[in-house]
Amino acid sequence: METSREWVYQKFSEYYKDPAAKVPSPPNTEQREFGYLMFKEHFMVRHRRFSTITGLRAVLADTVPSDVYHSCAYYENPDYDMDKKGWLGSDLVFDIDADHIPTSCNKIHDEFRCVKCGFSGRGITPETCPCCEASKFNTKIWACDLCIQSAREEAAKLLEMLENDFGFSQNELRVFFSGHRGYHVHIENETVRSLDAMARKEIVDYVTGLGLAILDKETKKKRKRRSGAKKFNLHNFGWNRRIKIGMQDLLLNANMHDLKAVGLNNKALLENKDTIIKRAILEGKWESINGVSVATWLKLAECIKEKQSSKIDTVVTTDIHRLIRMNGTLHGKTGLKKIEFPAKNLQDFDPFTEAVAFKKGEIKVLISDAPEFRLDGKTMGPYKNQTVTLPTAAAVMLICKRRAEVAQ
Ligand SMILES: [Zn+2]
Ligand SMILES: [Zn+2]
Repeated sequence: METSREWVYQKFSEYYKDPAAKVPSPPNTEQREFGYLMFKEHFMVRHRRFSTITGLRAVLADTVPSDVYHSCAYYENPDYDMDKKGWLGSDLVFDIDADHIPTSCNKIHDEFRCVKCGFSGRGITPETCPCCEASKFNTKIWACDLCIQSAREEAAKLLEMLENDFGFSQNELRVFFSGHRGYHVHIENETVRSLDAMARKEIVDYVTGLGLAILDKETKKKRKRRSGAKKFNLHNFGWNRRIKIGMQDLLLNANMHDLKAVGLNNKALLENKDTIIKRAILEGKWESINGVSVATWLKLAECIKEKQSSKIDTVVTTDIHRLIRMNGTLHGKTGLKKIEFPAKNLQDFDPFTEAVAFKKGEIKVLISDAPEFRLDGKTMGPYKNQTVTLPTAAAVMLICKRRAEVAQ
């Protein structure tokens, strides 16, 4: 065990000492708080201030942390205690992580076990233990192509909203692979810096579709009075537009089985789909479709909202003092780097190739248990109690995930 961690530490050390692998500087380094997790001692060093990126790089090469973070916030005194830091503003940051997305693979490869009572299960780790309400779990999680694909879909929805509804340009949206199984989106411009936690919560609600009222107030009032004016309508902006596009997409691609799965048991939707798309969705004559009531439109809209909302980690965006993993540093659970790429490349960017930090060498490891995985263009596994010679990056990942040890 010790030998294996020591070997990974050596690899991390080589990475941070390599003059070619320069960790990029975040904007305004001198106004940020930095923090890092000590590799061997497992404690978090916080409230560090660096006036230059060079100073930080030297510390990384010297201390070799397992994980490195900086504040999204800008402070007058980043190295002071929290209440004396002097908050000047904060980047707007979004975190999309397979941890928060119900994927079809997490039931297969993710396990959790309550530290207090031993309750265990598969799938997403609950906030609190259903047996004893404790909130500490030992987890064994994996990152597979399906996890990445799910996170990518959520990121695409988020980026679309930030561009089309909030009006950010593509070059204002900095997109990163997180180093594990998700994506980060940073917006660092002046206009977002001063937003307080409440304003950020409004943005989160918009992105997740929370509290979205599909019928406007007036329509609702009329419905209550039963004046016969039960009208359904969608305009052409924001969520209304998104719901229309989603409806069209669903009707064109779904079968009855798909509709039933989302609680829509109305044959008229599929039988009249061409008319619905033309007359209702495109021309706005919602009441002209026989057999489709306001209640059905609402249900359909609700279902599209579920599909089109982005499953971001809401806490990260609203916390104006948040520490976020630093670009170019290694993730302690994978040995992959957090890495930036252009927003327009989201679909083509392959984290399991591009984020690989260790490109050279191989080592013999004893693997207790690992599913099939793909790294740096090579597919490996599954393995069970086997001694195998693996490329460095794969060995680092399995050891970080406590599924392998260096073979003696
Ligand atoms: Zn428990
Ligand atoms: Zn997965």
